[in-house]
Amino acid sequence: MTLDSSIDFPLSASQMPKRWYNFLPDLPRPLPPARFEGGIGSEEIMRRIRPAELLLQNDPQGEWVDIPGPVIDRLIQIGRPTPLRRAIRLERHLQTKARIYLKREDVLLTGSFKLTTAVAQAYYCRQEGRRRVVSETGAGQWGVSLALASQMFGLECSIFMARCSLEQKPYRQIYMRLLDAEVAPSPSAATAIGRKLLAENPDHPGSIGSAISDAIETALERDGAAYLSGSNINHVHLHQTLLGLETKAQLALAGEGLPDQLIACVSGGSNLCGLMMPFLKDYRAGAPIRFLGAESTAAPRLTKGEYEYCRSDLAGYTPEVLSYSMGRGFIPQPVHIGGLRQHNSSPLVSLLRREGLLEAEAYDETEAFKAGHLLLRTEGLLIAPESAHAVAAALRSVEMAREQGAEPVIVILVSGYGGLDLEGHKATLLREAAP
Ligand SMILES: *Cc1c(COP(=O)(O)O)cnc(C)c1O
Repeated sequence: MTLDSSIDFPLSASQMPKRWYNFLPDLPRPLPPARFEGGIGSEEIMRRIRPAELLLQNDPQGEWVDIPGPVIDRLIQIGRPTPLRRAIRLERHLQTKARIYLKREDVLLTGSFKLTTAVAQAYYCRQEGRRRVVSETGAGQWGVSLALASQMFGLECSIFMARCSLEQKPYRQIYMRLLDAEVAPSPSAATAIGRKLLAENPDHPGSIGSAISDAIETALERDGAAYLSGSNINHVHLHQTLLGLETKAQLALAGEGLPDQLIACVSGGSNLCGLMMPFLKDYRAGAPIRFLGAESTAAPRLTKGEYEYCRSDLAGYTPEVLSYSMGRGFIPQPVHIGGLRQHNSSPLVSLLRREGLLEAEAYDETEAFKAGHLLLRTEGLLIAPESAHAVAAALRSVEMAREQGAEPVIVILVSGYGGLDLEGHKATLLREAAP
């Protein structure tokens, strides 16, 4: 059997979408408003620390939002549009008639889709005359992306990372520092909230929740600083709609119509929503698209969490939002998949789930790493452990299709590259080495 030579469906730089898609009008009902009761945060504080344009982009006017020219230039520099590749060797290995496509965000300069929103956010900070950006990072992909975007637009960058993650993931810390970012452990001895947490427990391991509080307090105190987020918020989902817009154009190049299934891993929900939101209108017009989110059993918000008001940070700066959550005090098991461990998902992804538009499945580390390993051996791609959850979900879906005699078109979103996360694969090697 000869291989069909057209397995890549590239868009040229000039074909990159020049506008973000405002998906809010496509939702079955409006997003419930965030509320500030009971915390120390307020609308006023948010207006101080967030660039004004990003606050507007949480609820944009009109169907499209133009991407500023300097952002388009940088998006092309970082590797957009990213490739869509038909996973023909994986299909053969699975002996499936499903057509499987990979949307490859792993090729972006920092190895993760997060760089797309980082570039846009850093640009608006610069435009507004801010000098420094402050944020938190989980596994480090957001921190690295924001550090690079800060370099591009001449901003200083401070990143807080849970102390336990800093110790587990030394490479991304080095990567951030090479880009001149300040990287500090959370809880931080330099903030009031950090000192309080350390007084309660000198060995506090830190969490995303503590790192967000440290970052917001720091942004409030430093002159000309902005606080930015890598997920969970509408303007982040808006920037990531490029993923879905590109995919739509690329499927057309591949001679496909609309996909039957879109599969992404999910934590806050920004890679998932970025891929899926541009297809929601088609779904609501009757296209039978299956939207599937793959989460980690270490933090199974969408399959086992409660739909409730909760906030993201420990100090109470962030508003309460209605979302699927494991509860604010939730401490996840120490798994390797740092990027999927947050305690709640975004209000947007939670609403999709609540309304039955989004299916969700939880996968454990072992199954995810196995799926990632299969993609490495068939397609040659070393993908992020987070992304491997989406592949695991796709493998299960292919089996289901086989039983039903269906031949679906499946798009798997590869959210990132796995070269800095190899330690997680050790268990796979040990298992295979065992007699
Ligand atoms: C951050 C991250 C995720 C999860 O974040 P979402 O907001 O749910 O998309 C998944 N994969 C990679 C590679 C990441 O960096």
